[in-house]
Amino acid sequence: MFGSVPKNLWGKRIEPDDENCIPLVTRSLWITYGDRRILVDCGMGELWSEPQRRIHAIRNIPEADWGFDPESVTDLILTHLHFDHAGGNELVPNATMVVQKREWQAAQDPETAAKVGFFRADFDHGHPVKQVEGEHDLFGDGSVICIPTYGHTPGHQSLKVRTEAGEIVITGDACYFCRTLRERRLPRFVYDREQMLASLDRLEALEKSGARLFFGHDPDFWKNVPQAPVPAF
Ligand SMILES: [Zn+2]
Repeated sequence: MFGSVPKNLWGKRIEPDDENCIPLVTRSLWITYGDRRILVDCGMGELWSEPQRRIHAIRNIPEADWGFDPESVTDLILTHLHFDHAGGNELVPNATMVVQKREWQAAQDPETAAKVGFFRADFDHGHPVKQVEGEHDLFGDGSVICIPTYGHTPGHQSLKVRTEAGEIVITGDACYFCRTLRERRLPRFVYDREQMLASLDRLEALEKSGARLFFGHDPDFWKNVPQAPVPAF
């Protein structure tokens, strides 16, 4: 996670356990809209060996607790194509995948894919792919809008959703933690630093306009959000 940064530096900010693991969460959002059943990101999936599960201390939520049938998903919106967001693609067989065109194209180019850390085995399970370009209102009524937040990866997107409790924005990895936004502290892995900083400005503007931001991997933030089977809103 922290590359070559020594533990005595990063350990001051995030306390590691005895195995030098730090807590990170990956969360998906389940949306119902008319007859559409929409999943936003789908976690790490199950294609992991036992040693990998042990090393990364992967604790997947059992399917019985998801609160929805994965076969019923019609639209699988991905913030980006990294394993911890698209690794569960194979568990959602009947959906159309919705990604930014530039993200999909980056994944088709072997050199870029290797540089960015895209692995076909994670995301490519034969789903129809809807490639959107920039800001895209999925249903044409402002209820679910793809917001380009490039930088973490070439075509990362966030998702603005209108709920009964107001607007929320799923930031994905455009903003791992709340303090990523507050302190403009970028993670070690950044595809394009300038674009990521511009994306943080954009997310901050959305927050100022009244939207509630959901921070991708922030365990403290998610402690206060009701999770399946309890509706968040
Ligand atoms: Zn991630």
